[in-house]
Amino acid sequence: MSEERGTRVEDEAARLDAADELRALREEFVLDGDEDGTPVVYLDGNSLGALPRSVPARLADVVEREWGRMRIRSWTESGWWEAPERVGERVAPLVGAAAGQVVVADSTSVNVLKALVGAVRLAREDDPGRAEILVDATTFPSDGYIAESAARLTGARLRAVPAGEIAGEAGPATAAALVNHVDYRTGELHDLPGITAALHRAGARAVWDLCHSAGALPVGLDASGADFAVGCTYKYLNGGPGSPAFLYVRRDLQPRFDSPLPGWNSHSEPFAMAEGYVPAEGIARGRVGTPDILSLLALEESLKVWERVDAYGGAAMVQVREKSLALTDFFLRRVEAHVPAGRLTSVTPGEHARRGSQVSLLCADEDEAGPVMKELIARGVVGDFRHPGVLRFGFTPLYTSFADVEAAARVLGEVLRERP
Ligand SMILES: *Cc1c(COP(=O)(O)O)cnc(C)c1O
Repeated sequence: MSEERGTRVEDEAARLDAADELRALREEFVLDGDEDGTPVVYLDGNSLGALPRSVPARLADVVEREWGRMRIRSWTESGWWEAPERVGERVAPLVGAAAGQVVVADSTSVNVLKALVGAVRLAREDDPGRAEILVDATTFPSDGYIAESAARLTGARLRAVPAGEIAGEAGPATAAALVNHVDYRTGELHDLPGITAALHRAGARAVWDLCHSAGALPVGLDASGADFAVGCTYKYLNGGPGSPAFLYVRRDLQPRFDSPLPGWNSHSEPFAMAEGYVPAEGIARGRVGTPDILSLLALEESLKVWERVDAYGGAAMVQVREKSLALTDFFLRRVEAHVPAGRLTSVTPGEHARRGSQVSLLCADEDEAGPVMKELIARGVVGDFRHPGVLRFGFTPLYTSFADVEAAARVLGEVLRERP
């Protein structure tokens, strides 16, 4: 490995950074060291995205002026009431959706319930015999728990199937499938257009969880004909802790979308305070109750950073994807160079077509993963640990540099070499 030492490789990181067309965007984020000034390599943006610099001032304005001085007038005069749809329009191009199909409200967990029950009800309306829901077998806990509850609510049975087999397993009894675009643990990217098409051939509805792809890679919801989708905004979309999630309902399905959580906010005449529920037209039907204005408006400000990505929309996401793959390729290569052989195995697919924007490394000794991540964090390299023995590193293309990648691989090698 001696030729890998010294300046040559550092030069490679510097060269890649110099050629990176998105590098100026890093300046839009707060990525200074932690509170005592220790420099930080932040590779956990897939859990909590970094803070965009413009958010604190906007949030202070929302609190002090819009809430503090304008008080209740802000619901109309500051545009609070329409914020869920307005912020939805900022998310839409990032997931390949035309206008009028995305609303931002509630958590991902809650939106999974709305979308999955909504999808089953639609499928049942067309064919009452459809009695089965498929769920991605390695899904995130909430999605799995809520899929079970959705099955009980709709009287369907739930069957867990590996995401890669859902296309083949869907049949005449399938009402809907809940699938992750990118597996949160392994970082595997699933074939959204292919699985959606297979579900449709079987007469079933596709519900996609985009938590680990929205803001990291092109999603192409409209192009694939996906029925419903949900996703987090505090991961690659940098909306802040607990910022509200998004819900996509394909336009032609909206008039038939029967939400399991009808609330006064999704009523056609919310201020009539009417006794009977009449759902609103359009994507407002995905709302439930009063929006979480502070978080929602922090997210709105965060999303403005995308205006700076070239040609905002589809083309921008292609650029973001190219950088994401270059970052994960470089990381995999540098881990191989720095880490003693046999200590770590990547559980993230090597193939670009099957890789999200993270790299998950399984420790040969699974018990070692927790302590290794703790030590990495102590040395300023922030990733996270996922059971059973996975070290997870997320690469947010808008602000991660190749120098960050080199530093992370080097420190990871040091930590592992120091352990017996
Ligand atoms: C992060 C994540 C969630 C989180 O849901 P919340 O309701 O925001 O807690 C759900 N599903 C997946 C796949 C995730 O990665």
